[in-house]
Order: sequence, then structure tokens, then C-alpha cells
Amino acid sequence: MVPRMATAASTPDRLSSYNPATHDLVGTVPIDGPAEVDAAVARARVAAERWGALSFEARGEELTAFRKALAAHADELADLLHRENGKPELEALVEIMMALGHVQHATACAQAALAPRKVSAGMLANFRATISYHPLGVIGVIGPWNYPLFTPMGSIAYALAAGNAVVWKPSELTPLIAVKIAEIAAGAFALPDLLQVVTGAGATGAALARAAIDKIAFTGSAATGRRVMIAAAERLTPVLLELGGKDPMIVADDADLTKAAEACVFGALTNAGQACISVERVYVAAAVHDRFVDEVVKQVRALKVGGDDGQLGAMTSTSQVAIVKDHLEDAIAKGAKVLTGGPGAISGSYIQPTVLTEVDHRMKVMTDETFGPVIPIKRVGSLDEAVRLANDSRYGLGSAVFAGKGARALAARLRAGMTSINAVMSFAGIPALPFGGVGDSGFGRIHGDEGIREFTRIKSTAEQVLALPVNMMSFRQPKEAPGRLRQMIKQLYGDGVVAKAGDWVRKLRS
Ligand code: NAD
Repeated sequence: MVPRMATAASTPDRLSSYNPATHDLVGTVPIDGPAEVDAAVARARVAAERWGALSFEARGEELTAFRKALAAHADELADLLHRENGKPELEALVEIMMALGHVQHATACAQAALAPRKVSAGMLANFRATISYHPLGVIGVIGPWNYPLFTPMGSIAYALAAGNAVVWKPSELTPLIAVKIAEIAAGAFALPDLLQVVTGAGATGAALARAAIDKIAFTGSAATGRRVMIAAAERLTPVLLELGGKDPMIVADDADLTKAAEACVFGALTNAGQACISVERVYVAAAVHDRFVDEVVKQVRALKVGGDDGQLGAMTSTSQVAIVKDHLEDAIAKGAKVLTGGPGAISGSYIQPTVLTEVDHRMKVMTDETFGPVIPIKRVGSLDEAVRLANDSRYGLGSAVFAGKGARALAARLRAGMTSINAVMSFAGIPALPFGGVGDSGFGRIHGDEGIREFTRIKSTAEQVLALPVNMMSFRQPKEAPGRLRQMIKQLYGDGVVAKAGDWVRKLRS
């Protein structure tokens, strides 16, 4: 079991993590099976009971200690992210900064987000009605490899801040960063086993989804999300699914084209395009299409792939390189025009950023998640067409619009969990904004107050504060009760509403 840093050579019961750029071994971790996963969950259950009973202040102090310990290890974490995932050091540091922002936000906001709320008691106006939020217990977190720290931390920080313990199964491609985080957590939290890591491939994740946990927060592909939901159904374990995306970007004819192009290039190519909220397809008003394309191509040609000063790093997995190549070949076969990069410019783990035009929705590159450094740009005759095509997707995660005064109205028409206006991906950097999607992009929310409440059970309490002469929740009713009820129904809910429930309480008391 982890936390522990593996140093042994690769054996059949250990998983090896390789540097995708050099193919050097970064380290090995155990392959945990159902017995190890169940044992971790049992330990987490003990931790959850004690952690959940603490005050927000006490938990806040410990989470702050955890955050500071993570910040103190930022260099080491960035180096591990760079070596395991392939991303340039600068992107690794940005990822750490964003993850820490969420730890800080969840810590600071948990008490207010989970404060009991008094709500209207409606027609039972002699009652005090409150909603309160309570920790669920043990949360299973399954993470992907593309943002191996930031993405799972969006669940872990919020689950811990809400009073839960966490068992985390990182991607088999990036397990060492998780092991390191668990090691840091073990040193920072007074309680043992609050944040544990189990390692292995899909089978370990499946064991966690089937374990006696109180919720599973899964981030990964839609295909695996379905499998997780099926496994969780055995125990009716609730699921939070953060899945893939095919994020559209719309550029209107009154947009600032230089800014739109700069944002598009970043949004499509950061992390070598391996982000769930990458710009994956662009719809540009016909009047500005050619100028926008020229600007994008100019900016893309100025980028460097690989090396210490490269903006784009190595792709994390060879299977992802194969998917990108397949999408490019499919698009070219169906008539797409390659302006930069292309399938011939793929070399090992490195893909030259590829700009495509003359694309349409028959092509995989416009409908399936490409998850690589590709910018397919489509000319549209109107903004209505842009919206129709943007919404023509089984995914609905992020989106972006670049426009002048009609930008907000345009944004409101997009079927997506999140939209940036005159920017890309910005919602992910605002911790108060809930993050999540619709359709094949999943459901449930991380981040924001909703992301804290996601890891709680909601309890409703109805307290009678005043006894009425007529008690409707009793079989002992006066014989005029039906007549009074008829009158109440008409007055409260019929045409010409004349009374409120409070008026009736006063009437009944008099
Ligand atoms: P993946 O679905 O292949 O794997 C995700 C995780 O699930 C891994 O830890 C894997 O070991 C585990 N797993 C595999 N089979 C399992 C099973 N049967 N039961 C339980 N767990 C199992 O995804 P990936 O390739 O690691 O990540 C890339 C995907 O993640 C992309 O689709 C990307 O868009 C998505 N993603 C989404 C978000 C978001 O917040 N919406 C963020 C980052 C990545």
C-alpha cells in the first residue's frame, strides 16, 4: 500500500511509470488489487469519522498545513509532472498553482457553503424548515493522466474540506505524482489515512468503484465513465463524472481577431492539446475567416515543440498519438486542407501543431475528442449556423465565444457546462465557478460551492415551532375540516389567489 515511493525494478506485481519523452523509467508502484483497495477504504472510514467530527476551523488549519506543504514541494512536484506526463516545466508549475488555488478556495469557503440554511416552510408556516449538509464519509477519486494533479485535486480538496476522507486511484500513466501527494498529506495531516493512494491500472479503479465507498468522483473518458457507473450501481454508490469534451469556439465578425487567434492557439495547444477543455473545433464568421486563419497560422509557426524551451511537450501516451494521427488522416481523406503540421509531421511522442481548414462534421476531428495539438477551423455563414454546429455534439463541457456586443447572448445559446467570453478555459481558473458538463461530458460539479456540496448528504429538518388548533397531520379532525380545506385550496392555489399560507396560520390561531 502507498504512501510510499517505489524504487524497485519493474516486476509483474508492480507498475512502471515511464518518461514519455525519453522512455526512461521514472519509478514503479505496487499494483493494488481488491483486497488492498478494501483495506484502504476501511482505514479511510476510521479517518472519516474523526475528520468529519472536527469543526470547520480545525479542518481548515490542517488543510492549510497541507496546502503549505504542497507549495513547499512545488519544485519536486513540477519535476515529477514534467517527467511522468511530458509537459514542459512551465505548464507543470501552472498546474501546481491552479491546484493549490483550489485547495485554498475549498478550505476558505467550506463553512459558508455548508452553513445550514433556513427556508420557507410554505403552507406549513408553523414550522421552522432547515437544510443542512453533512460529510458523506469516504470518497473514491479516480483520475486521468493529462492533468494528474489539478484534475483530481478538484475533487480531493473539496471532498476533504467537506469533511470526508479520500482514497485516490491515479492514472497508471502518472502514479508517482499521486504517491508523492499522499506522502506529503501523511506528513501534513494529524489524522492518518485521510488521503490515501491506491495504484494500478483499470482493474484497481474498478475495485475502487465496487468498494464500500460513499461516492465516486471519476475523471476520464466517457467510455470508462460508463463502466464506473455500472460498477457503482451494484451498491447504488453515487457517481460524479467529469468526462471528455469537444469544446467549440465561435469567432464573430466583430471579434478582436488578434486576441481571438492568440487565445485559440493557446486553448487548442496548451498541454499539447491534451486537456478536457481544449479548444477542439473553431467556427469563424465568413467575413473574418481568412484573416483569422492567417493569424492563427502565423502564431502556430512561431511555436516550438520539445526541448527545454518548447511550448509543446511530448504526448503522454503512444495510444493518444495514434488517435490524433487517425483523426488527421480521416479529415484529409474527406477533404480537409492542412496548413501546418499534419500526420507526416508526427515524430515519436511529438506532434507538430496542425491547423486544418475545409473541415466538416463528417470528420472525426470535428465530432470525436482528438486530445492532441490540432486546430480545425470551419467557415460559417452566420452566427446561427455557428451555434447550431457548436451544439451538434454529444459532448457539452467547455466552450468559448469571441464577439463584440452580442457576446453574452451568443454564450447563453451554447449547450455546455461552461463558456468563456473573449477568453478560453478561464472558468477553470476561477475556483468559485462550478466545473462540469452535460451529455457525454458527464454530470455533477467540482469547484465552487456546488463542488463542496457535491461531497455531502443533504438533510432536511422540519421543526414544529407552534401548535395549531387544527393539526392536519392527525386523523383527529373536526367534521368541518373538508370544508375548510376546500376553501384553502381555492384561496391558496386557485384563480385569484387571495391568501398566503401565513395568513391561514393566523386565521387558524384566531
Ligand atoms: P481513462 O478513462 O482511460 O482513464 C481514467 C482513469 O480510469 C484511469 O485512472 C484509469 O486507470 C481508470 N480506469 C480504467 N478502466 C477503469 C474501470 N473499468 N473502472 C474504473 N477505473 C478505470 O481516461 P484518461 O485517458 O486517463 O484521461 C483522458 C480523458 O479524461 C479524456 O477523455 C479527457 O477529456 C478526460 N478528462 C476530463 C476532465 C474533466 O474534468 N471533465 C479532466 C481531465 C480529463
